[in-house]
Amino acid sequence: MSGRVPSAAGASSGRAACLAACLVAFLVVVAAPAMGADRSAPKRILLLHSFGRDFRPWSEYALSIKAVLEQQAQWPLDVQEHTLLTARFNNPGPEEPFVNYLRSLYAGVPPDVVVSIGAPAARFAQKYRDQLFPDTPMVLTVVEERLVNRADLTDNDTVVSVQNNFTAAFYGILKVLPETKTIAVVIGASRLEKFWLDEIKRETAPFEGRLAFVWYNELSFDEILKRASVLPPHTVLFWGLMSVDGAGIVHESDLALRSLRAVANAPIFSYQEPFFNGYTVGGPMHSIGDTSKKTVEAVIRILAGERPSTMRFEPLQFGPPKYDWREMQRWGINESDLPVGSEVLFRQAGLWETYRWQIAMLAAVILIQAGLIGGLLYERRRRLVAEVESRQRLAELAHVNRYAAAGELTTSIAHELNQPLGSILTNTETAELMLKSESPNLVEIGEILADIRRDDQRASEVIRRLRSILKKTPFEIANIDLNDTVGEAIRLLSAVSDGRRIALKFAPSTSVLRVKGDPIQLQQVILNLIINAIDAISQAGATEREINVATAQSDAFAEIRISDSGPGIAPADVKDIFNPFFSTKPQGMGMGLAIVRTIVEAHGGKIAAENQPSRGALFTILLPIAH
Ligand code: ADP
Repeated sequence: MSGRVPSAAGASSGRAACLAACLVAFLVVVAAPAMGADRSAPKRILLLHSFGRDFRPWSEYALSIKAVLEQQAQWPLDVQEHTLLTARFNNPGPEEPFVNYLRSLYAGVPPDVVVSIGAPAARFAQKYRDQLFPDTPMVLTVVEERLVNRADLTDNDTVVSVQNNFTAAFYGILKVLPETKTIAVVIGASRLEKFWLDEIKRETAPFEGRLAFVWYNELSFDEILKRASVLPPHTVLFWGLMSVDGAGIVHESDLALRSLRAVANAPIFSYQEPFFNGYTVGGPMHSIGDTSKKTVEAVIRILAGERPSTMRFEPLQFGPPKYDWREMQRWGINESDLPVGSEVLFRQAGLWETYRWQIAMLAAVILIQAGLIGGLLYERRRRLVAEVESRQRLAELAHVNRYAAAGELTTSIAHELNQPLGSILTNTETAELMLKSESPNLVEIGEILADIRRDDQRASEVIRRLRSILKKTPFEIANIDLNDTVGEAIRLLSAVSDGRRIALKFAPSTSVLRVKGDPIQLQQVILNLIINAIDAISQAGATEREINVATAQSDAFAEIRISDSGPGIAPADVKDIFNPFFSTKPQGMGMGLAIVRTIVEAHGGKIAAENQPSRGALFTILLPIAH
C-alpha cells in the first residue's frame, strides 16, 4: 500500500501537472490570439453610399474617408461598400430585397462600424438598423444638418453633419463678380432636390432687388444646356445638384456638370469642393478634407472602444474659399477681388516658370550673338576708318611720288615750254619789225598774232597738265572714260619721250571704256609705268626705242597694256618688282610700282608684269567696267 500512496500521490500530481500544461497550452493557442485580436484581426467597416460609388459629390468624400482611414487606423481594415440606388429614382421600388440581402450577408458576422454617406444612406441605416445591425455602432456622415433625423438616433450612433449656407455662396459670387445680375440655379426634380430647391429659395431672400434668380428644376437637362449656352451678360450658373431632371431623366451629376461646363457661356459656381476641379470657379465650399478627417476621427474612436453617443461634432461649415486660377483668367476675375484668406489653385506656370532654362539659354545665346555682332560691327567700322586713312596715306604718298616723277619730267617740260615761248618771242620781234615799216602788211601781222596765240595756248596747256597732275587731291571716284585719262597722261609724257628719242604710241580702244575711278590716280599709274619704260630703254641704250600703250575691253574689264622695247625685267626679279623699296636703279626709290599696284587694287583691279617673248617688259592692268 505504502508503495501505492506515493504512487497515488504521484498519479494525482501527474494529473495536476497535465492540467496545468493543458491550461497553458489553451492560453497560448486560444486565449492569446483572442486577447490580441484587437490589434491583428481586420476591422470590418461597412460604407453605405446614397447614390452610387461614383456619384459626386459623395463619391469624393467616400474616397477621401477611405484614404484617411487607411492612413490613420492601427488595425488592418476590411472596408465593404454597398450602394442604396433607390435615392436616384423619383418612384423607387421596395427596399425590402436590399435589406434582406444585407441581413443575410451580415447575419452572425456584423461589421465593426457602419458609415453612411449622405442623407439617403443615413435615413436607410437608421430605418433598418434594428433589422440589420442592432448592436453595431454607426457614423452618419456628410448629412446636411437639416436632414439629420435626430429623433431616431440611438446611443450607438454619432453624426458628422454639414451645413449648407447658400446665402454665403451667393455673397461669394457677388464679391468676385460684382456686376452679376442673375443667378441661374441648376437643380433636378428628385425628392431630395425638391427639398433643396425650397431651401435655396429661402436663402435668396437677402438678395431681393439686387439679384434675379432663375430656376431650372422643371427643365429637361437638354433644355438647361441650351439655355446655358445663350445666357445674357452678367449671369452666372449655380450648380445645386442634378440627379433626376425636370423630364424625369436620371443623371450622373459629374457627367452632367461636365456637359454643362462645355457649353455654358457663363461661369459656374457651386458650394461643393468635389465639383471644384476644372468645372466651377470656386468660392466658399464644403471641404472634402475637413469632412473626411472628422468622420475618420469618429470611426477610429469607436474602434478604440469609445461609445458613439459620447461624441459630439459641430456641423461642418464651408471651408476657406478656394478659386480655380484658370477659371479666374477665363472670366476676368482679379486676384485682388477675392475674399481675404482665399486660396488660388491650379495656377498655370507662366512661360518663365515652364521654360526657365530654355529661356535663360536663349537669352545667353542672344547676348553672346549680340556681343559678337557688336564686335563685328565695331571691327567693320574700324576697318572702314582704317581704309579711309590708308586711302589718304596713299593719296599723300602718290602725291609725293608724282612730285618725284615731275622732277624727272622737268627737263623735258622746260624743253616743251621753251618751244612755244621761243616761237612767241621770234614772232613778236618779227611783228614789231613789220610795224616799223611804212606800209605794214596787216594781214601778215594778223597771222603772226594768231601764231603767238596758238603758241601761248600750247604753253598754257603744258602748264595746266602739269598742275593737274601735281594737284593734291583726296581719293575721289568718278565715272570716267579710261581712254581720256590714259591719253592725257601720254600727252604729258610725250615731250619727255620725244626728248629721249623714244616713240610713245597710243592705240586707244575703238569703243568708250567706262570705269569708276580717280582720274589723277590712274594717270599716275600710267605715268609711273611709262617713266619706268623710258628709263629701261634709255639705260640699255637700245637701238629700237618704242613704247606702246593700248587699251581694250576684255570681258567685264577694261585692259591697259604698256610694253616697251627695253631689256625686260630680270626673270628672278619679276615676283619682287611690286614690293616696296625694290629697285635695280642706283638712284631708285623702289616705290613707283608699289604705288601703282596699290592704286590699281584700290580700284578693284589687277596688275601683272611679264617679259615679252621678243623683247622688253609688258605691264597689263585690268579695271572693272562700270555699269
Ligand atoms: P624705281 O623705278 O625707283 O626703281 P619702281 O618700283 O618703279 O622703282 O621699279 C622697281 C624696279 O622694277 C625697277 O628698279 C626695275 O628694276 C624694274 N622695272 C620697272 N619697270 C621696268 C621695265 N619697263 N623694264 C625693266 N625693268 C623694269
